[in-house]
Amino acid sequence: MKLPRISPLTRLSLGLTSLVVSLLLLLDVSGLLPDQTAMVKQVRNRTSEALAIQAAALLRMGDIMALGRSLEAVRERDDQIRSIAVREKTGRILVAVGEHGRYWVAPEGGRSSLDHIQVPVFANQQEWGAVEISFVPALPNTLMGWLRYPTVVMLLAMGALGFVAFFLYMRRALQYLDPSTAVPERVKHAFDTLTDGIAILDREGRIMLTNDAFAKLHPDATQNLVGKKLDEQAWLCGSLESTAVENLPWQRAMHANAVQSGVFCNLRQPGGESFNIILQASPILDPKGVVRGCLVSFDDVTQVHQVNEELRGTLAELEVSREQIRSQNEELQHLASRDPLTGCLNRRAFFDLLEDLFVVARDQGHGMCCIMTDIDHFKQFNDRYGHAVGDEVIRAIVRTLQAGLRNDDLLCRYGGEEFCIILPDTNMTQALEIANRLRADVEERAGRSVRTTEGLKITASFGVAALGREMRDPAELIDRADTAMYKSKKAGRNQVTSWRPGVAPELGR
Ligand code: GH3
Ligand code: MG
Ligand code: MG
Repeated sequence: MKLPRISPLTRLSLGLTSLVVSLLLLLDVSGLLPDQTAMVKQVRNRTSEALAIQAAALLRMGDIMALGRSLEAVRERDDQIRSIAVREKTGRILVAVGEHGRYWVAPEGGRSSLDHIQVPVFANQQEWGAVEISFVPALPNTLMGWLRYPTVVMLLAMGALGFVAFFLYMRRALQYLDPSTAVPERVKHAFDTLTDGIAILDREGRIMLTNDAFAKLHPDATQNLVGKKLDEQAWLCGSLESTAVENLPWQRAMHANAVQSGVFCNLRQPGGESFNIILQASPILDPKGVVRGCLVSFDDVTQVHQVNEELRGTLAELEVSREQIRSQNEELQHLASRDPLTGCLNRRAFFDLLEDLFVVARDQGHGMCCIMTDIDHFKQFNDRYGHAVGDEVIRAIVRTLQAGLRNDDLLCRYGGEEFCIILPDTNMTQALEIANRLRADVEERAGRSVRTTEGLKITASFGVAALGREMRDPAELIDRADTAMYKSKKAGRNQVTSWRPGVAPELGR
């Protein structure tokens, strides 16, 4: 049969109680405690002797009736007496009160016992008879009787009261008993060598043991905290995110029987600074897996945090630098792909982009057209107004062309005052429309947009070619547009010509 487990506290209290009860019994046996039986016997003897004297006196007077009344009165008054009789030496009963025949048991050898006392009565110096008194049994003869017997009641009461008193006292005493004194020195030393602060708690959250690193967490942690509740340490609990008792990590660990790790705690110091602590609470289990306490560790990560902060700052700076480098690269990329005078694509960038557009258009069967344009009689602007005005004319032409093109179209400064335009997803009819519109725009607006010199008349000649299936290279497309453009020049300039094989150039004005 499995016996219920008795806690050490109960065992200790039971041990002390039985020690006290044993001592009382020893005192009783050794006669140091008042002997109740002897006292009873003494009282009964005295009562009996008094009765015998009284009976002798009444016998001498020969008043048997008065003797009977007197004995009856005594029996009624004293509830310890069951029956009384006056017996002559011959054995004849002269007077009897109570059920003497029932209660009287003649003691062996004529000596009185505790419950049956006989006192001799003398007449004329001769033993005449005896007064027999039967008392209520002084010692109990049943278990219940014994349980009510004063000495037993006293021992039981002393035992019960003693147990309760010892239990309460020991519980209180053990609570404040420094358990660290029971921990071997080498174990304490091992705890003290740990860099993490350690607090070992009992089931109620009372501190049983702390190490040196724990004491360094806060000035209030340097006091002897053994026996005090960790829940009541304001310097610690106030630094936690939630101060509700049930949310404290060690309470959660003990209630849920699960390790609570990575609990962040900003431990504020009286001087204003604060430590960053990562707290972990692990339940301590007995061999049966019942939670008996908790081990709380405190990892000071203040320095790690500082280094992290610095790293974060450096990373942010690096991010800014990277962004600057990226935008500078973009700028460089832009500059490298642009013509410095006009800002439109240079030949290298243009051919890179054209290469991709050409492949896509050819593979997917999309249309694509090219327009070549060259400023008419450009040399005269240089000659008449100087190079600076010539540059202005080039810029004016680019502004005008750009305004008339889509974002997806490519505009490249192909030569000094010669430009190549690529129109993706465009057929010859649409391209001719666009070229004619551009030509008209140049004629109408380009001259006016040169603010430094008034009255300039600027025109340009245009040649248009469409992508052919037979073309292997984008240069073929440009050549055809160039050929068409020269046809415009030859035909009198300021016009648009489309390339057609073996067909006379189409003119547009
Ligand atoms: P055409 O109508 O036949 O095209 O006559 P044109 O005068 O335009 O003749 P051409 O195309 O041969 O002239 C090109 C001239 O453009 C030659 C060169 O001096 C001038 N030029 C080339 N690049 C620049 C430049 O960047 N700035 C200036 N101001 N002039 C340039
Ligand atoms: Mg020209
Ligand atoms: Mg030219």
